[in-house]
Amino acid sequence: MTHKLRKLLLTACALGLSALALAPALRGADKAADKPLRALYITGGCCHDYNNQKVIIPKGVSARANVEWTIVQEGGTSTNHRISIYEKDDWADGYDLVVHNECFSAVNDPAFVERVIAPTRKGKPTVLIHCAMHTFSSMKTDEYREFIGVTTRRHGPQQPLEVKNLEPKNPIMKTFPEVWKTGNEELYAIEKVWPGTTSLAQAYALDNKRDHTVIWSHTYGKGRVFGTTLTHNNAHMQDPVYLDMLTRGLLWACDKLDDEGNPKPGYGPSAAAAE
Ligand SMILES: [Zn+2]
Repeated sequence: MTHKLRKLLLTACALGLSALALAPALRGADKAADKPLRALYITGGCCHDYNNQKVIIPKGVSARANVEWTIVQEGGTSTNHRISIYEKDDWADGYDLVVHNECFSAVNDPAFVERVIAPTRKGKPTVLIHCAMHTFSSMKTDEYREFIGVTTRRHGPQQPLEVKNLEPKNPIMKTFPEVWKTGNEELYAIEKVWPGTTSLAQAYALDNKRDHTVIWSHTYGKGRVFGTTLTHNNAHMQDPVYLDMLTRGLLWACDKLDDEGNPKPGYGPSAAAAE
């Protein structure tokens, strides 16, 4: 959406007019009845193909749900960059959800971390992918881990995973297979699952002979959080099993997933994304 268009819609709201009523005309060929969910996707940092993942995930999710994306990518391949958007007060305002797919393990400033997690605590739906769980992992205190819902600081060598569905009746996991087998993949060691976190899937680590939660949901303050330590490799991220699961988790975080695991009315794929 252009700045001009966004301004026009905001003006319409201020005048008490319905932005919903205006939107179809303004958005032309987009046949979706409802406004898309506006996702802020934050990425960058060490050890991953974030240049391609910032295409794989938005494209894959928008083929399944009515989501439009704003991408923030910073920090190159460093471990200690501080994403600049977090320095702004109320940085998540104007978005319906935040997706974190970044990897900056060496940042350990509690005041900065508080800026990152505050929007979720106030109610912003949040999705956490893979190395977002190891971002700020050098922190001595647990504020960020409580926000994530699990504690993890390391992973073992890549191995084939058997991802077991623990909650097949949960709407997020209804169509996830009983077992999803991957090729070689990173498995994050989970030291602790925090109270209030629901483990939705687990996988067995060959190095430490334990099952580890790999997909979960929880609530941090007023905000729903959906997290998955999967995946490191683009090949698995592109798998429809993965993209279906991630999309359902994202919709659940936004309270746009129905009991059958389908998008609520208006939040299925938009006409534009389906083309
Ligand atoms: Zn990784």
